[in-house]
Amino acid sequence: MKEIILLKAGEIALKGLNRSTFEDRLVKNCKFRLRDIGSFRFTRAQSTMYAEPLSEDIDMDDAVETLQHVFGFSKLSRACVVEKDMDTICAAAEEYLGRELRKIRTFKVEAKRSDKKFPLKSPEIAAEVGGYLLSRFSNLRVDVHEPDLVIFVEIRDQAAYIHGPQLDGAGGMPVGSSGKAMLLVSGGIDSPVAGYMMAKRGLEIEAIHFAAPPYTSEYAKQKVISLCREVCEYAGRIKLHVVNFTHVQEEIRDKCPEEYFTIIMRRYMMKIAERLARENGCGALITGESVAQVASQTLYALGCTDVACELPVLRPVIGMDKNEIIAISRKIGTFETSILPYEDCCTVFTPRHPRTKPKLRDVLRAEQSLDEEALLADALSKVETMFTYPER
Ligand code: ATP
Ligand code: MG
Repeated sequence: MKEIILLKAGEIALKGLNRSTFEDRLVKNCKFRLRDIGSFRFTRAQSTMYAEPLSEDIDMDDAVETLQHVFGFSKLSRACVVEKDMDTICAAAEEYLGRELRKIRTFKVEAKRSDKKFPLKSPEIAAEVGGYLLSRFSNLRVDVHEPDLVIFVEIRDQAAYIHGPQLDGAGGMPVGSSGKAMLLVSGGIDSPVAGYMMAKRGLEIEAIHFAAPPYTSEYAKQKVISLCREVCEYAGRIKLHVVNFTHVQEEIRDKCPEEYFTIIMRRYMMKIAERLARENGCGALITGESVAQVASQTLYALGCTDVACELPVLRPVIGMDKNEIIAISRKIGTFETSILPYEDCCTVFTPRHPRTKPKLRDVLRAEQSLDEEALLADALSKVETMFTYPER
């Protein structure tokens, strides 16, 4: 029996004249994610996309699960494709959904006829398929209010499609359709979630991680690579820059007042990230900051880091509780990696008493003794760049 995947467009269905640009991007993203699973042909009609496998041996469960992580769809379902003929449709519904139908007690059929030339109207199609199934399964009765299973029959231009319940899509906008941004990714819980959230709004994610060897270990770096891979499950592909930040941090430690270490270090992170962002065509930075979480995330501290760069800084978790962020990190599968106990460069040389209400004027004075251009040049000359992809 021929099977396809029906994908219902989410927010892009609301787009006007430029909708096809979004759809083109969506198809490209789907094909990229399915590349190891098999070849599919994509076609579109109204707000539905059809993914048709081009060979018999494709693992459709795998394909559906993968597409559930592609931003841009609200719902998806596997469906069988048959000729637009009532006898064929009834027999196909019995065969395709028979296993489920045998296990349940109540059902209903919902029909949709977008091919207006088809001789029966939607309620007539539903009644005929429903009547047929009742005659074939003695365990079943119809319940239109709370059925155990809803069977969908869609009569479209090319063919008829029969499917069971729809699965949730990942929502959002196709990755890449809103431009590109640079994610400051630490090994913590928040920044991978921030990357996921902005990818969901259609941003292609590029990432920058600051490592401070030998104070931070190779394990810490591998952990960040793993986190990027996990975010790739949704973001598709992430270009990751690992910057050797040791010299910058040592200079700050040696030349600046201790209570300003963290805030100055964070300002340098923003400055370096901004340079790399501009070199790579990114229109914004993304961080996992959340108001009041730690000393460097008070309004005062955020004010001081914000002005360190000119690009907009997107902080999607800014108003979220730690528990809310953790719930998302569990959902997207980054939590277990995030809690592995490797040190981050932020915890190297942490001041005993960080300033929680730093004034920009004082911070600027505290960092005056640093040779900014030399430090930025040093960091930018020690960048290792790699691409990360989803595990499968
Ligand atoms: P958590 O708070 O869960 O430990 P975090 O990622 O929020 O993790 P913070 O120390 O709160 O870590 O840092 C705030 C933000 O600064 C991070 O979300 C991240 O965007 C950025 N950041 C911190 N450390 C690094 C780093 N080593 N490399 C790149 N970005 C970093
Ligand atoms: Mg944090």
